[in-house]
Amino acid sequence: MPTPETGYDPSLGRKFVFVTGGVMSGLGKGITAASTGRLLADAGFDVTAVKIDPYLNVDAGTMNPYQHGEVYVLKDGGEVDLDLGNYERFLGTDMTSDHNVTTGKVYQEVIEKERSGDYLGDTVQIIPHITDDIKRRIREAAAGSDVCLVEVGGTVGDIEGMQYLEALRQFAHEEDDDDILFAHVTLVPYSKNGEQKTKPTQHSVKELRSIGLQPDVVVGRSEDELAESTREKIALFCDVPTEAVFSNPDVEDIYHVPLMVKSEGLDEYVMEQLGLADEALPEAERDDRWRELVTRERSGEVEIALVGKYDLEDAYMSVHESLKHAGQKCGVEVDVSWVDSDEMLDRHTERLRDADGVVVPGGFGSRGTEGKIEAVRYARENGVPYLGLCLGFQMAVVEYARNVLGLDGAHSAEIDADTPHPVIDLLPEQEDRDDMGGTMRLGAHATEIEADTLAHEVYGDTQCTERHRHRYEVNPAYIDDLESGDLRFSGHAGRRMEILEHDDHPYFLGTQFHPEFRSRPDRASPPFVGLLEAVIEETGVQNYDHDETEVTA
Ligand code: GLN
Repeated sequence: MPTPETGYDPSLGRKFVFVTGGVMSGLGKGITAASTGRLLADAGFDVTAVKIDPYLNVDAGTMNPYQHGEVYVLKDGGEVDLDLGNYERFLGTDMTSDHNVTTGKVYQEVIEKERSGDYLGDTVQIIPHITDDIKRRIREAAAGSDVCLVEVGGTVGDIEGMQYLEALRQFAHEEDDDDILFAHVTLVPYSKNGEQKTKPTQHSVKELRSIGLQPDVVVGRSEDELAESTREKIALFCDVPTEAVFSNPDVEDIYHVPLMVKSEGLDEYVMEQLGLADEALPEAERDDRWRELVTRERSGEVEIALVGKYDLEDAYMSVHESLKHAGQKCGVEVDVSWVDSDEMLDRHTERLRDADGVVVPGGFGSRGTEGKIEAVRYARENGVPYLGLCLGFQMAVVEYARNVLGLDGAHSAEIDADTPHPVIDLLPEQEDRDDMGGTMRLGAHATEIEADTLAHEVYGDTQCTERHRHRYEVNPAYIDDLESGDLRFSGHAGRRMEILEHDDHPYFLGTQFHPEFRSRPDRASPPFVGLLEAVIEETGVQNYDHDETEVTA
């Protein structure tokens, strides 16, 4: 129930920004929304987000990274769309699976309720049963927040998005006008003679209006700022005031989008429209750390080779972002070069020669694994700083077993079921599993770190809690053998090996978990910072530790 003083029920969200996309997907509407959210948070509001993915998959866990980019993992083990990673990084919050609504989840729930007789004989229909479930999910995810950003994936006009737009229409009808804002992010292309064209925007807004939705704000994505005449034209045809049409030109770095959104005044306009302007912190009291972080000076550049099987930055998005955060902290620019793990086999290590450090990220299946093992060997033998994440940790175990312990044919049972030495084997609880969705060892689990190890130095603690996503682990039968030389497991979760390192190496660290999912611009992930610090030391690039500078200044 609403409280008498504020009229606002804190168990529900208070204000909602619904974000739709026009003309084409991949315009970065999630980044635009997240950037606006960052600014609202800096102005003192509690901001959260919901990403709607109108596909029938229940979650992103079974989806191919080639089509959808990386599967992002939340602390509760939710395997979700990578946009949730952007929301967590921009808003600085930890979310749960409830913040990713998919058609699969909605229909699964409604059909299960129908089977258990919950609808008491009703005909179960898209309206109202599906739309009610969508609205319930949005309200529940927004609970306790001042502002909830709700991004509808895809583009207006997609058949599969219709039920969501209808749910949002009903939602707006049920709430007060000043509690809801519709923002439409659209493409403004250029004609051959360099003129900005508004027709695609007009059409997508027309499509929105035909289903009863009128945008309050139109954001035009384009190479450059929108010309005044372009904004006026969009305003006229889309029936919004000219000051509600915002430019969103390309910027070099996604972390600069909040600065651009601010210079456009989109955050102020949103607060104004939602009746929040009076509660916002005065400009001088707003948190300005973001700007400080993302515009820091860099003293040099280091090159990190990322050895993976997908030639697609999105497939390793959180790893890229983590390297960027670590670069910001250490004051260096990080140039990430993708090295095809398949190619590693033919051309061996020549592809790695220019790299100052090597990262082998997570992965599944056999393709490219021999190349990854080669990359590990190169880094180990040549003293090149190395960070292995999940599969990159497992391949470091395989490499050591084969090339140092002489266990010929050692492998992970995932990749070679008949290996004579399954140094990496199925987790015992996985043995009888046959369904693939949401059944791995997932989410945040604590790791105990041994004192006086590299891991201890890197984390500055004897414990860390990081997110997981794996089905295989170090085979306990091989641990004594594996630790007989200079490899050691410096992090454990009960009987599970979580971190490995080599004593005689400038920086060789492998983690069974995925530290990249907790890295934030203002909280760079320790294993990535450790990697860059080692690289800086090896290459002699000057290190600016901004945090230390601040302390001594
Ligand atoms: N495929 C490996 C496993 O299931 C590694 C998983 C990963 O890298 N996320 O254990």
